Amino acid sequence: MANGLICDAIATPDQVVDADGATMLPGLIDTHVHVETLDNLKTYGHWGVTTVLDMATPDPESLLKLRHHDGVTDLYSAGYPAVAPKATQITKMGYPESIGVAGIADAGRFIDAQARCSVDYVKIIIEDPKQPGTQALSPEVISALVERAHAKGLKVIAHTTTPVSVHRAVVAGVDILTHVPIAGELDPEVPREVAAKGIVVSPTLTMMRGLTSALGRRPLLRAQAAARLMPKLEYAGARRSTAAYLAAGVTVVAGTDANQDSTAPFSPSAGESLHDELGLLVEAGLTPVQALRAATVTAAEVFALPDRGAIETGRRADLLLVDGDSTRDISTTTRIQGIWIKGQRIR
Ligand SMILES: [Zn+2]
Repeated sequence: MANGLICDAIATPDQVVDADGATMLPGLIDTHVHVETLDNLKTYGHWGVTTVLDMATPDPESLLKLRHHDGVTDLYSAGYPAVAPKATQITKMGYPESIGVAGIADAGRFIDAQARCSVDYVKIIIEDPKQPGTQALSPEVISALVERAHAKGLKVIAHTTTPVSVHRAVVAGVDILTHVPIAGELDPEVPREVAAKGIVVSPTLTMMRGLTSALGRRPLLRAQAAARLMPKLEYAGARRSTAAYLAAGVTVVAGTDANQDSTAPFSPSAGESLHDELGLLVEAGLTPVQALRAATVTAAEVFALPDRGAIETGRRADLLLVDGDSTRDISTTTRIQGIWIKGQRIR
């Protein structure tokens, strides 16, 4: 469609809608999902999530073909994630052995291969070597990956779930941190540095809440926590980390880590879970307007998608009409009256 599409989309006679008492929002953007099929994308659309950012797939060849089709949620993808050799992704989650980054020289090989596949950004799994059973990339390899990705014009998203992994990501100069530490406190200096460097955080509170509740029920982990062999995992820890980032002025975007992976300890639902995330972000300290921005205009700015995220002439008419005032009551975003993708009504 040409520019000016928003007025065109709503003003044509067959698309006049009675929006009395309703709020028209830009289509929502989930900044952390794992997509497998076209049907997944349709489910996101059904919930008003009109753009999703896939954060690693074991099958880029199939997934990258699902990007940018008319009438369904628009998809971007990281392709393969950068992990250490013998990482869990390779040994348990079905990712090929060849993605393991074996050293500094190998970082270039990995990033160049990703760029050749025309991925949209790079995801690095930054593990904490002190966590039992993990295989962690070294700080030097992480820096080499970030440098090469930036040289190729690709943003870097880092999976960081402990204070140590956050520190390594910040030192390497990644662009976005995804997840927040659950156990262990962030050094107060760290959120300030994250803010000063302009690094953005996608806390994925839906995932952190589901994960702590799923892991909390596992007998072995309960016994280990009781014996103080490992810290107790509680959702309150994720909320504290998020509050620390917010207090330091860090920009936050909305993401859920929605997935259909049977090996994952928890799988947030496609689309619907982003509405939960908005509620959790408000509970963590954002105003409803800030939470809405985190899932629309701010997410679009952070991921360099200037054609969406706001309702204005020249941007895609990705729209979500809900009953009630979402700028005051965030729970109204699920009271969906209409959804448009690029001006085409899909619900
Ligand atoms: Zn994920």
